[in-house]
Amino acid sequence: MAGNITFTMIKPDAVESNNIGNITQMISDAGFKIKAMKLTQLTRNQAEEFYAVHNERPFYGELVEYMTSGPIVAAVLEKDNAVIEFRNLIGSTDPNEAEEGTIRKKYAESKGRNAVHGSDSDENAQIEANFHFSENDFV
Ligand code: UDP
Ligand code: MG
Repeated sequence: MAGNITFTMIKPDAVESNNIGNITQMISDAGFKIKAMKLTQLTRNQAEEFYAVHNERPFYGELVEYMTSGPIVAAVLEKDNAVIEFRNLIGSTDPNEAEEGTIRKKYAESKGRNAVHGSDSDENAQIEANFHFSENDFV
């Protein structure tokens, strides 16, 4: 299974702008199978831990504020080469640099409020999936 799953969040800006359905449709159309999914809201502790790798970066405080500002959708997705395929589907961190047809190009507001998360490695995909879901959440 390693290499075949990635973890995503539909972030607060995209939930607020009613794009859960549109983004989920793009994910399905791109051939990802949804293995687990939930609407939830991150606590401050959860957001701080999830983004701990960025805690020295100047945007960290703002990122935690934003990620706890409203509901998110967390999901585990399956596809061959899932991490890379999903990074291609979401596009660059900054929507101004994201390619046409990517989720961030279509739905992100800014580099900070950028609609979706995607894991950056197979190892982090497993860590992030386990952070949000337990074994019996997977179908
Ligand atoms: N971020 C930000 N300003 C920056 C870089 C990143 O606000 O200059 C936020 C943005 O929401 C991004 C998240 O921090 O998605 C994590 O950053 P990373 O570099 O890991 O980007 P990603 O992997 O999400 O493309
Ligand atoms: Mg990242």
